[in-house]
Amino acid sequence: MSLKSIEERIVTAAKSAGREASDVTLIAVSKVQPDERVRAVLNEGHRTFGENRVQEASAKWPGFRQDFDGIEIHLIGPLQTNKARQAMELFDSIHTVDRPKLAKTIARLAQELGRCPDLFIQVNTGEEDQKAGVLPADADGFISECKALDLPVQGLMCIPPVDEEASLHFALLAKIAARNGLTGLSMGMSSDFEKAIALGATHVRVGSAIFGERVAH
Ligand SMILES: *Cc1c(COP(=O)(O)O)cnc(C)c1O
Repeated sequence: MSLKSIEERIVTAAKSAGREASDVTLIAVSKVQPDERVRAVLNEGHRTFGENRVQEASAKWPGFRQDFDGIEIHLIGPLQTNKARQAMELFDSIHTVDRPKLAKTIARLAQELGRCPDLFIQVNTGEEDQKAGVLPADADGFISECKALDLPVQGLMCIPPVDEEASLHFALLAKIAARNGLTGLSMGMSSDFEKAIALGATHVRVGSAIFGERVAH
């Protein structure tokens, strides 16, 4: 796999869903990947990346930002409240807002910093104990709470259970977004991004299919 072939598959998937490929943002998930693989994708011209740890991203991206213009990085992993400031200074977008305490902290810091990354609310569509995200039944209330805090909520994000049909979860996420007037949908990974695009994904998060298997630390 490579960046080019994933881009082509996005174009094909968008077309067959009657959508514009330009309405789908490819987030290249670079977590745990060696710097030379990330640099290769930057050299191919790609600028939008995803990381799931604040610490790892803050070690990696300031250097790349010196070498390349226009880099945009998205936090797609869980965010601890005590790392919120660092995350807001580093990331252009945070996909994992999932609880009132974090939402309130982000709102306070946004005032202080005079800016706020784009935000997505993570929904635990599979209601899995080990997974982050607000439960589907609590989503409408939490979305309203975030809007009341004036947070720039762009949409919703989910990570379907590994052993279930992803499309059911993508459809549920799309339904919750639509009834709350949200247009952003961060859904779809290496194994299922085409299904996600068919169901309206605006942001797909693709790692191993671009960079190769992740090398364990
Ligand atoms: C790692 C990760 C991805 C990318 O997974 P691949 O299967 O390598 O495409 C997408 N989203 C989240 C939240 C991740 O943690």
